[in-house]
Amino acid sequence: MNCFYHPADPAVGICKYCQRGLCSDCAAMADDVLACKNRHEEETHKLEKLTARSLFQSERVGSVYMRNATFYGLVGAAFAGFGLWQLKWLGLQAALFIALGMFLLYAAIANYLEGRKYK
Ligand SMILES: [Zn+2]
Ligand SMILES: [Zn+2]
Repeated sequence: MNCFYHPADPAVGICKYCQRGLCSDCAAMADDVLACKNRHEEETHKLEKLTARSLFQSERVGSVYMRNATFYGLVGAAFAGFGLWQLKWLGLQAALFIALGMFLLYAAIANYLEGRKYK
């Protein structure tokens, strides 16, 4: 493949934005990828920023859901366990702990399922 702008010169890479071949004179680095010098440097930079940001965001949102799932799961299990353990002595109050624990476990599962969408 040869340079799109200089058909006599061999291409050293491809512009990320327009996919054209570039010789060493025409190739510019924009965020670790090649771009047409003075033509698509700005566009490539925007493109890279956009993809990097959306990747970063979905990863972060996913991990927040997973962290919430772990938290709710642990607290929910603790409440439910405490309620079951105290059921004989506390009766209705213990049942409330169990109900709260179940609710938190449900929230943990909902968060886990939501977080899996982002993986
Ligand atoms: Zn280009
Ligand atoms: Zn060229």
